[in-house]
Amino acid sequence: MTIVPIRQPIDGRHRPMFIGGLWVEAASGQTFETRNPATGEIIATVPRGGRQDIERAVAAARNAFVGPWSRFKPHERQKLLLRIANLFERHWEEICTSDTTDMGLPIARARGNANRVLGMLRYYAGMATALHGETIENSLPGDIVSFTRKEPVGVVGAIIPWNAPTAASIWKIGPALATGCTVVLKPSEEAPLTPLLIAELMAEAGVPDGVVNVVTGTGAEAGAPLAEHMGVDKIVFTGSTLTGQSIVRASAGNLKRVSLELGGKSPVIVCADADLERAVPVAAMSVFANSGQICIAGSRLFVARSIHDEFVERLSAYAASLRIGNGIDPETEIGPLISPRQLERVEGYLRAGSEEGARLVTGGTRLSHGALAAGNFIAPTVFAGVSDTMRIAREEIFGPVISALPFDTLDEAVRRANDTPYGLAAGVFTRDLATAHQLSRRLQAGSVWVNTYHAIDPAVPFGGYKMSGYGREGGGEHLGEYLNTKGVFIRID
Ligand code: NAD
Repeated sequence: MTIVPIRQPIDGRHRPMFIGGLWVEAASGQTFETRNPATGEIIATVPRGGRQDIERAVAAARNAFVGPWSRFKPHERQKLLLRIANLFERHWEEICTSDTTDMGLPIARARGNANRVLGMLRYYAGMATALHGETIENSLPGDIVSFTRKEPVGVVGAIIPWNAPTAASIWKIGPALATGCTVVLKPSEEAPLTPLLIAELMAEAGVPDGVVNVVTGTGAEAGAPLAEHMGVDKIVFTGSTLTGQSIVRASAGNLKRVSLELGGKSPVIVCADADLERAVPVAAMSVFANSGQICIAGSRLFVARSIHDEFVERLSAYAASLRIGNGIDPETEIGPLISPRQLERVEGYLRAGSEEGARLVTGGTRLSHGALAAGNFIAPTVFAGVSDTMRIAREEIFGPVISALPFDTLDEAVRRANDTPYGLAAGVFTRDLATAHQLSRRLQAGSVWVNTYHAIDPAVPFGGYKMSGYGREGGGEHLGEYLNTKGVFIRID
């Protein structure tokens, strides 16, 4: 392993990875390129980490876990998280620019995420001093006191996708720091730069060496060895359902704990009484934001038949009005897809939609005029005349594509909405309180939003039903994912 004795060069073209408090190269010496998806330009190279690097990072994380970090009091972990939050606030523009150039997120949107990400850090800071077990009365003979202790699970392997590098990194690292765990983070090979910047800011805030490690590399070469590592106590994973299944298989060796935030094919139900002024833009952006590369994308749009045609028309006009371009322009509303491969995948679904008989209302093509030619841009797309069995209505596209499906009764809408292996999120638009309550109860999804979408708060659990995963991020349950519960009995007579 080559140790690079310098701090992370923020504007350098090569960025080493972070293991045990050092900026290092891959043991193999190999690197890979990361590109700006809006322009196709190579913006940096990073180490192509593999099994040996994972070994080293897990060892560093273990040493830190049993070392000085284990003696950090809750209030010290709290102060550290607050320092990180303050440092993030000062460097927010830099973090946003990194996300925009490395994965295409429009900078206006990245800036708008400040409260969410800083709020997460400050929420976990608060929770660091709120962890506690319980004393529990028992029925045993003799005088025995029984209580529970909450203890950090240990070394956490965190594997994240490309579509929200900042939020995903913090959602994994924040609770680890709050509970006293240590982390080996494996970012997506498509967007590794912001997690490296985050590691740098954390070190600057005073996170001890080895508590947060970042190993860059591919899923097969770095992700899989992390998932199967016998020295990792827990994997927290966000990504596709297929990869989630292979993580579960890989975890069997030491039966490490696993929590999974996976894919979705979320339904949005627009009732006949909905406020269309609100429902049209919210339903549109439930998919088009981040160019559809959102796990909770409300990509199956069920619309009451009586308003269906009007709704589709207004939705399409809204889609056609969105400003598409390089996310670095503050006016841009829709940026590029992450890679030419993702572009090809989404184009495949556009073809499938037309071939299976759906009616293309707007979009449906790659945008390649002028400056857009070098990037991976797809026009926001609406299909009508979609049936429940078409591929565009069943499979996660991860692109800016909405399938509109008319319905006649609410019972039918609920049945069809739930007819999917996924269960990540669902949306409802209605002015009727009883309908809002009934549908939020009947929809099988980890999050249900009524007359809004995308509402995610650090204090409220988020996660999947069915094949969208298990475990929760956000709220007290999130910390529970990073804690073991120990029952203690002490005989005192
Ligand atoms: P992906 O599953 O291909 O990759 C996710 C991460 O897993 C990457 O870091 C990748 O390198 C790694 N990986 C790949 N194969 C691996 C293996 N065999 N072992 C260990 N790690 C491996 O997902 P993606 O294409 O990067 O992201 C898109 C997917 O993520 C979509 O399905 C989306 O719905 C999902 N997602 C879910 C949420 C959520 O909170 N539920 C949030 C964002 C994205």
